[in-house]
Amino acid sequence: MPDKARVHYIHPIPEAKEYDPFFEATLQFEKAANFLDLDPWIYQRLKYPERELTVHIPITMDDGRAEIFTGFRVQHSTVRGPAKGGIRFSPDASISECKALATWMTWKCAVVDLPFGGGKGAVICDPLKMSENELKKLTKEYTLAIRDIIGPFKDVPAPDMFTNAQTMAWIADAYSQACGYLEPAVVTGKPVHLGGSLGRAMATGTGLFFVLEEALKYLGLNFEGRTVAILGFGNVGSSIAKLVHNAGCRIIAITDIFGGIYSDKGIDPFELEKQVKQTGSVVNFPGTEAIDNDSLIALDCDILIPAATEGQIHRGNAGQVKARIILEGANGPTTTEADSILVDKGVLVCPDILANAGGVTVSYLEWVQDLQRFFLSEEEVTEKLEKKMKKAFQEIIDLMEKHKLPMREAAYVLAVGRVAETLKALGRAA
Ligand code: GLU
Repeated sequence: MPDKARVHYIHPIPEAKEYDPFFEATLQFEKAANFLDLDPWIYQRLKYPERELTVHIPITMDDGRAEIFTGFRVQHSTVRGPAKGGIRFSPDASISECKALATWMTWKCAVVDLPFGGGKGAVICDPLKMSENELKKLTKEYTLAIRDIIGPFKDVPAPDMFTNAQTMAWIADAYSQACGYLEPAVVTGKPVHLGGSLGRAMATGTGLFFVLEEALKYLGLNFEGRTVAILGFGNVGSSIAKLVHNAGCRIIAITDIFGGIYSDKGIDPFELEKQVKQTGSVVNFPGTEAIDNDSLIALDCDILIPAATEGQIHRGNAGQVKARIILEGANGPTTTEADSILVDKGVLVCPDILANAGGVTVSYLEWVQDLQRFFLSEEEVTEKLEKKMKKAFQEIIDLMEKHKLPMREAAYVLAVGRVAETLKALGRAA
């Protein structure tokens, strides 16, 4: 018998399998695991989350009804530090999605070399149909339900889809009330006056911008006159839209959950934001035509930025992509099958675990500031963010060129390799 049974881990992709985020995350991990020829114990340890908690939370709604909500918190890894990752409120949340997102957080934190593992939480609810009071109660009860497994040195949540600085303030309060003292470092993405960091609100967009700057340079291009299409106009989509607009790009299309807009002349994201504040959507922005997600993905543009949810670029539409660069603002926006199609077409896909790591990087700076009760200026934060993002970009490009790998695979090799190395050094293999 060989002393170490090496297994070939690659799953076959079943025909017509329904989209399953954790399956996608596993496929991406397996490629890197194979490349790195991971020790079987390390492979098994990193393939599955360390912990999955499901909670059921009864809330009295404003009309007096008692409603039950289901929430999750998944910790994929705490090998390099506390689990780190957002909490989302969404009607489509599921345990598979949380497992995938927690796994991606582990790799994301490792790519930018933060002393964190990966986690993710969610509550199945429709935040657009709930009052502020209902959301506050739900957030506080959810925090108490997961309280035993979170903490500044255990697991540090942050905002994600449909949660924001206010949600984080409620979490900090519920946790602190239970501790008996204010503990701002339990959560990041808080309001600045409550221990939040300057620059955190725009951080994911700012990080995307630094990655795009490097990607354009790598291809010998510049910002001026580049056409951009953006899927999603939430925190991430709107931040990157403003930055690329200011840098001289022309945004020709944007979609959100209600529909989309197209204009060959360009869309001003600052004006659009004013409309979104009033109507809640990009739809019907003056001077634009309607467009749907698939048509946006197929547009003749230079840069495509998926900044919405998972699985939006799939085998059904990847073949239509004409962009030179895909900048993944969302987590898991491209399925594994779509990824191979894009690589074959020569599209430079800047993968989520690098591209959108700006948010968690500034979360790390917020956590450090909270622990030290010492705060940085916005310039200091941005400068540290830029260094981290550009260093990670270069490390990935070096691996990509050295081993002739697509950019995503190179990012995974870097991230999985870092976590595996730590596990090995800790002497954990059972
Ligand atoms: N939710 C964000 C992400 O997916 C931020 C996570 C964090 O700051 O911990 O990267």
